[in-house]
Amino acid sequence: MSSDCLFCKIAARQIPARIVHEDADVFAFEDINPQSPTHVLVCPKKHFASLEHAGAEEEAVLGKLALVAAKIAKQRKLGSYRTVINTGSEAGQTVFHLHMHLLGGRTFSWPPG
Ligand code: 5GP
Ligand code: ZN
Repeated sequence: MSSDCLFCKIAARQIPARIVHEDADVFAFEDINPQSPTHVLVCPKKHFASLEHAGAEEEAVLGKLALVAAKIAKQRKLGSYRTVINTGSEAGQTVFHLHMHLLGGRTFSWPPG
């Protein structure tokens, strides 16, 4: 846990959030500013800032993020959905605890803005 990290504080229940999944490695919660009817953030419990900071030891948890996102999408019968990891501020990353966005419930355009 990084003591000054928002998402570590959510995992530790020090900041409230609507948590929708938790297991030994991963937690997921509703985004506070949803960009689609479903907008869930799926995070490793272990703090690392971004994909740029991920090492080989993160291989399993990175795969698990995708599988947890797919499980939540299936629970919600989304059918089509988008998973996104923003890396770096120019790509839109604002919270530097790695997270995968699960977005669904509307039509998305491509390329993203
Ligand atoms: P990023 O821009 O880093 O890819 O995504 C960060 C996400 O975290 C944003 O979609 C933002 O709305 C969400 N977020 C920021 N602060 C909070 C918070 O305090 N609680 C929750 N649930 N989501 C947050
Ligand atoms: Zn953190």
